[in-house]
Amino acid sequence: MKTKKLIIGNWKMYPASLKDAKAKFTAIKKTAGKLANVQTVICPPLVYVSELKKLVTGHRCVVGAQNAWFETEGAFTGEVSIAMLASVGAQYVIVGHSERRATVNGCGESDELINKKVLAGVKAGMTIVLCVGERERDPDGVYLKFITEQIKEALHGVQKKDLKKIVIAYEPIWAIGKNAIHPASPDDALEVSILIKRTLADMHGKDATGIPILYGGSVDAKNAWEFLLKSQVNGLLVGRASLDPKVFGEILKSADQIK
Ligand code: PEP
Repeated sequence: MKTKKLIIGNWKMYPASLKDAKAKFTAIKKTAGKLANVQTVICPPLVYVSELKKLVTGHRCVVGAQNAWFETEGAFTGEVSIAMLASVGAQYVIVGHSERRATVNGCGESDELINKKVLAGVKAGMTIVLCVGERERDPDGVYLKFITEQIKEALHGVQKKDLKKIVIAYEPIWAIGKNAIHPASPDDALEVSILIKRTLADMHGKDATGIPILYGGSVDAKNAWEFLLKSQVNGLLVGRASLDPKVFGEILKSADQIK
């Protein structure tokens, strides 16, 4: 049986109005709804999650969140819990995005905090999209150890029965966003997707084989198919390009055609 490609749009802190968010989601859903071989997930800013959830029809295009707090409720001013997001219909939550891990202009999230979010997410029945990736590459391969450690620490304590709720997104920081130094090649992504599979196998043996691996970082309508075909990934995490329904639609259609 052919497994579906998982294509997740991370809208970051865009767009500026609910009206615009609804229009973008509706346009994306129109394309995504026709594609039997793709699972589309849109992760809008938290404030739009429940409104976009109301626009969901069927299973092909659903809503996720970009972040959440690990406690269910409590005195955490300004935070939204994973349980709250699950209760308004979010099915996926991105955890450990590099923009949240960043210590400068970010939130300084540690591997320890990310691990708490992962454990809370699986408990709430959400699918966790765990982001890992290096800031830069060094000739000695220290970045490979860095990624391995990120995975081990984030997944510490996850039980075998919950592995089906985990997705790993490889997002090299140097290839993400408008300040990307240069795009990653499909070979760069292949090297790390193999590393991730090995790391997961070391941790959980055969039980880890079904964990989807995504690539993210400057994916667009031109390069999406190459990552999907050459990098041994099960899908993509798309930032900027997911905000343009036409471009994102092209990415979804490429994914639908890949065997
Ligand atoms: C992201 O922020 O997760 C991302 C992959 O961004 P972009 O596609 O814009 O590089």
